[in-house]
Amino acid sequence: MNPLIFLSIVLGTFFIMEGITWLTHKYVMHGFLWFLHEDHHQPSEGFFEKNDAFFLIFAIPSWLCIMLGLQHQYYWVAAIGFGIALYGLGYFIVHEVIIHQRFKWFTRSNNTYVKTIRWAHKMHHKRLGKEDGESFGMLLVAKKYWDKVQKDKKIQEKN
Ligand SMILES: [Zn+2]
Ligand SMILES: [Zn+2]
Repeated sequence: MNPLIFLSIVLGTFFIMEGITWLTHKYVMHGFLWFLHEDHHQPSEGFFEKNDAFFLIFAIPSWLCIMLGLQHQYYWVAAIGFGIALYGLGYFIVHEVIIHQRFKWFTRSNNTYVKTIRWAHKMHHKRLGKEDGESFGMLLVAKKYWDKVQKDKKIQEKN
């Protein structure tokens, strides 16, 4: 398989995963699997949350695609598996490290995009319950959050 096509499928899957994550977060995690996601919306003690189970849940299709795709030489299937894995890694870095700072790896960033995804996710966490949430995505956020961060930055610069 042409490596460029392979790479395009990996990257394409990565972006599709943002949509799948949005849908899963809104309709599954805030739906019938709320019991796993709930402790992510409540202040919790200890390092692990039930919510971390979603890493395992998403790892299964990724692992199956990679293993079966390579075994049977369906490289496009393996590419999808790698795309899902890459998104999982991105989700870990953005959601666990940059937003929730479960690991103190990066110090506070002043980057507008970083501030925007943090703010958008903060708005998601504003609600402790299952219903009427907002901002279910991770990498793609609504323009209003971006505008708000830009406005804050301008005010900051003036002072
Ligand atoms: Zn949520
Ligand atoms: Zn969160």
